[in-house]
Amino acid sequence: MALLNCNECKKEISHSAKTCPNCGCTMPFKGQRLSAKQAKNMSGKERYSFVKGGGKIQTSTIQKISAAFILFIIFIVIITIMKPSTPEEQAVKDKEAHEKGARIACMTEVHLQLKDPGSVVYGSNPSDRVVMSTGDNRWTVQLKLKSKNSYNAYVLSTFVCRVSLDGKQYKVLSINKSK
Ligand SMILES: [Zn+2]
Repeated sequence: MALLNCNECKKEISHSAKTCPNCGCTMPFKGQRLSAKQAKNMSGKERYSFVKGGGKIQTSTIQKISAAFILFIIFIVIITIMKPSTPEEQAVKDKEAHEKGARIACMTEVHLQLKDPGSVVYGSNPSDRVVMSTGDNRWTVQLKLKSKNSYNAYVLSTFVCRVSLDGKQYKVLSINKSK
């Protein structure tokens, strides 16, 4: 336990005194600072009392470094997010977004044609859901799936959709089913 001088009566009192036991003044340490090294052996409760008594504890070098490091990481993350993609990267992103849009449009249309859309199980192979660009904002989507028929039995079907991009909407131009 460290002893510090009260601001008012200048007598040495415990740093954990919120009011001076000698002169009764509140905030006996107002404006006083302890370095992180001086405060090292203080418990959390003692630090709290000292701060309540008007004192300040300076941040240690380690705390400063940690804070700077965290800010640096945040800065890097922001830079990475904000970084504009190269035309090649953007082209890949656009291609993937189009393929996803075309696939979802086809899936939606397929579900409308099924007896029991809730029973659909899509194949897990990449070849079970193929999206091919046919140029000029058009795609061919092939989906292999299992679903229940009107006899409650699972049947395997393959659907092929032709999809076009109309403004921001993916539209299914045609849909063909094969067993
Ligand atoms: Zn005092």
